[in-house]
Amino acid sequence: MKYFFKTLMLFFIMSAVSYAQENEQKAREVSIIHAGTLLSIAGEEPLKMQSIIVEGNKIISIEAGYVEIAGARIVDMRDKFVMAGLFDSHIHMAERDLNNPLANAADHALMGVKNSRKVLMAGFTTVRDLGARDDTLYKVIDAIEDGEIIGPRIIPGGIIIGVESRANGRECNGIESCRKTTRDMIKEGAQWIKIRSSCRGGQLCANEDGPPIFFDDEIQTIIDVAKKYKIPVATHSHTRDSSLQVLKYDIRSLEHGTFMKEEAMDMMIEKDVIFVPTMSNLDETSARAHNPETDPIFATHSMKFVERQPKTLLKAYEKGVKIATGTDGRGRNAGTNYREIEYFVRTGIPISETLKMATINSAELLGFADTLGTIEEGKLADIIAMDGSPLEKIENIRKVIFVMKDGKIYKE
Ligand SMILES: [Zn+2]
Repeated sequence: MKYFFKTLMLFFIMSAVSYAQENEQKAREVSIIHAGTLLSIAGEEPLKMQSIIVEGNKIISIEAGYVEIAGARIVDMRDKFVMAGLFDSHIHMAERDLNNPLANAADHALMGVKNSRKVLMAGFTTVRDLGARDDTLYKVIDAIEDGEIIGPRIIPGGIIIGVESRANGRECNGIESCRKTTRDMIKEGAQWIKIRSSCRGGQLCANEDGPPIFFDDEIQTIIDVAKKYKIPVATHSHTRDSSLQVLKYDIRSLEHGTFMKEEAMDMMIEKDVIFVPTMSNLDETSARAHNPETDPIFATHSMKFVERQPKTLLKAYEKGVKIATGTDGRGRNAGTNYREIEYFVRTGIPISETLKMATINSAELLGFADTLGTIEEGKLADIIAMDGSPLEKIENIRKVIFVMKDGKIYKE
């Protein structure tokens, strides 16, 4: 009997040891990426022939030359351009065509699942969602985290807060309603709050002289609630005065900024507010303006956006406003998130600076400055590779052939 217990005991110890070893093995899984050209930190010069050593979900070191370690998996990117995973800092992952009134929760869920795959495959490993229609995106995020579907790291901003309750907006109308809406949104899981402080671009009241739509005490209430729960606030703002209004408060980012003036840009620099201009939206705005079926008044309104937005971006850049890239993309353009980066370059922002805005600045905006945005020792292994250098020709940003997120390979 004594012998039996001893054997049983030994068996338990042995299996515990082998289980621990197996786990350790898994945690220590090492991949080495041999990078022909490596842009570790956007804005700096890329290096040739480097090895990125990834253990588990982290970058543990970067070595010159092509290093090999016994038992490690080699990822051969010797003829590729390797850089940190890209960010889309303003996207609508689970929203179909904005103007489709028939879209329901099933459409949004399906959109979320399809877009998640497309966005990740395009090399965008982290996104900030700034406006869903309902709570389906939270379920998509759970499914990505559980490994049931694939997608980028999604930072959800809940449903947009505006003055009226609508298909894609929750009501903030008077202090009590603003407090309740903001608190409810955070309770549901929003990690950002987005407010619509001017009319939407598709409305004529979003013109240069258009009115801010909130009262000061309403914005103050939203900011107070968000601050209480340590949630940052993003503000949709097209008009000159809505930008000046929201910049009086502790907001973290200003979206669109179409008609803002230098005074607003100075405030952004002073308060370290990050600008997300959403340029690639203009492709559709321009198509609408040039469509002969568009109402002439609306076509003129749309053209003003197309003409002004690039000037605003350039002016903000020249003044030194911190800028991040975000597409404002929806179902129809997920997977072409690189268009924003190309638009910046077309506008006149240097390529290396644009890549910095799509990585380092976006990581800072989303609170990942210490963990993402560059390929450096200790950071999370979000690494992409493409055929050809985007520094030489920006369109190479479309040719992403390798995607690693959190140490796991999704595309090779
Ligand atoms: Zn948006």
